[in-house]
Amino acid sequence: MVNIEVVDPRESRKKKCIIITSRKAELRRKKKYIKITPQDDERDAVNVKLRRVTEIQKLVEAIRVILLCSNATPIRKYGSIGYQCNFCDKEHDDPRDLKVHTLSTHKEADKLKFLQKHRGINTLKVKLDATCLRCELCDTPSDDVEQLIDHLTLKHDKSFPSNLKNFIVPFKFETSQTICALCRTEFSNFKILLQHMNVHYRNHVCETCGNGFVNKRILQCHMYRHRTGEFSCSYCAKVFDTRIKQRDHERAIHICDNKRSKCGYCGEKFNDYTKKNEHEIKVHGAKPIVLKCSACEKTFDNQRSLSSHTKRYHLMERPLPKKAD
Ligand SMILES: [Zn+2]
Ligand SMILES: [Zn+2]
Ligand SMILES: [Zn+2]
Ligand SMILES: [Zn+2]
Ligand SMILES: [Zn+2]
Ligand SMILES: [Zn+2]
Ligand SMILES: [Zn+2]
Repeated sequence: MVNIEVVDPRESRKKKCIIITSRKAELRRKKKYIKITPQDDERDAVNVKLRRVTEIQKLVEAIRVILLCSNATPIRKYGSIGYQCNFCDKEHDDPRDLKVHTLSTHKEADKLKFLQKHRGINTLKVKLDATCLRCELCDTPSDDVEQLIDHLTLKHDKSFPSNLKNFIVPFKFETSQTICALCRTEFSNFKILLQHMNVHYRNHVCETCGNGFVNKRILQCHMYRHRTGEFSCSYCAKVFDTRIKQRDHERAIHICDNKRSKCGYCGEKFNDYTKKNEHEIKVHGAKPIVLKCSACEKTFDNQRSLSSHTKRYHLMERPLPKKAD
């Protein structure tokens, strides 16, 4: 079957005309859409991005100025042996040895490259050894990082972003004790002190418990512990009401943590944490780990045992999850 449509030529012309005008209107609309609206949006997006890029760049440059103009030294993290150098990964048992190493080995060229591989403002956090802090340009001592920043601004014409101190976590190792540089509280080891330091920062605040954190990533790690629901163990039939409990159970019962049982010096693996410690002491001359309970006389050779002891016998609050350092 064939459909035959009889079309009046005048009608057809009219139709074409309508089609053309509507197409023109559409084009005009498109032009408007393509040429004006998105450009503004794009410009805004680019501006936001640029603002962020320049913000992190300014912060990184300011931290480099502090490293170049003072005897402050960065600490990358507390590794398997000890305090790790930010420039060459070398670890030191005693933070004071790391400071001597950093000041004698890593000069201007290294400092100018500090945080070259930063991962943006959401993960920015500089652990700074501010022991016996002083200005390298005129030898004036400073009590703390803020005073040093004021000094460099007033006496040496340097300029710093006003939010810089929010990203610097200072430490002072004047004695062999691990003491918070901001409130003088003593801690059994550096990792616990590191978790404590968040108490002094409000850059990011947990909506559930009101705790403050240095950067967004640490807050996100922390938020994990508030999630409730049904979390079942991936290895057995047990069910937990929080992910943290599930994770702790899996780690304690089913997963043999490699880091805990691997020698920090030679990499030899042990299926027992105590055996690893014995090996590190015997073969590599490491100092034995002695953690003392602050409420009773008991001592422990690892943080996990001390924590569970404290939780069980002294009903104190558990420390924050290990990830959120
Ligand atoms: Zn180094
Ligand atoms: Zn000075
Ligand atoms: Zn403190
Ligand atoms: Zn919270
Ligand atoms: Zn299980
Ligand atoms: Zn070894
Ligand atoms: Zn105790």
